[in-house]
Amino acid sequence: MNNPFDLSGKVAVVTGANTGIGQAIALALAAAGADIACVGRTPADDTVQQIRALGRRAEIISADLSTIEPVQRVVDEAVDKLGGLDILINNAGIIRRADAVDFSEDDWDAVIDTNLKSVFFLCQAAGRHMIAQGSGKIVNIASMLTFQGGIRVPSYTASKSGIGGLTKLLANEWAGKGINVNAIAPGYIATNNTAALQADENRNRSILERIPAGKWGDPSDLGGAAVFLCSRAADYVQGHILAVDGGWLAR
Ligand code: NAP
Repeated sequence: MNNPFDLSGKVAVVTGANTGIGQAIALALAAAGADIACVGRTPADDTVQQIRALGRRAEIISADLSTIEPVQRVVDEAVDKLGGLDILINNAGIIRRADAVDFSEDDWDAVIDTNLKSVFFLCQAAGRHMIAQGSGKIVNIASMLTFQGGIRVPSYTASKSGIGGLTKLLANEWAGKGINVNAIAPGYIATNNTAALQADENRNRSILERIPAGKWGDPSDLGGAAVFLCSRAADYVQGHILAVDGGWLAR
């Protein structure tokens, strides 16, 4: 009853919940008691099935977040279908790889629009609802490239560095209104997003050599951090970027 990590009765919106980190976070929040709106362009049927098997409610909200067109509808549909909005996980994201000298405007815009612009406007739409109710938790999915430069991913690095600053700005503006805005920075996690790196023998070896834990992370490794930041246990945590990286940044 008095578990500070209990999310019973809370409604969470998770973007990109059909696979990878978003699916794992959706399942972790549901296991902690939350009902989940699974937002994305690919229907999260498998995630919804698993959440319902846990005894929680789950709904699919179709939205392509490459533009901000669906942003207000996402918030409205979550409230309509699940009766509220207490938690927003901004997880959906893409990456494009090319040398900086060759990088195209399309690869710049696509990544910035999905990873940064849509995230801000989804925070804004959810934030208006949360400010009106006097409470809410927002968790943005950052990256090691929130702290480091990376290589051959200029728009991704810019977007994830932007997520770090945006998370702090929103925390500054909304902490006094009962809303917590934080971020999780995953290290190297085995998902579709990193399939190319895992398949590249040399990159894979050099990555593994640098990770103190000596292995790629599993999407489920992010679950505990997400539950914590979405729970009462994190009520006084603001503008923090929590690395879940097997020790990568400590190296
Ligand atoms: P993933 O398996 O490729 O999943 C990305 C998710 O984002 C998918 O659900 C995808 O939907 C969704 N998405 C992409 N573009 C979208 C759009 N326009 N509209 C709606 N949804 C869209 O990758 P992941 O590794 O789980 O990545 C999740 C987040 O973690 C991303 O923000 C990524 O940058 C971040 N991250 C990942 C790692 C890592 O090592 N894996 C490390 C640091 C940060 P579709 O299935 O329809 O494409």
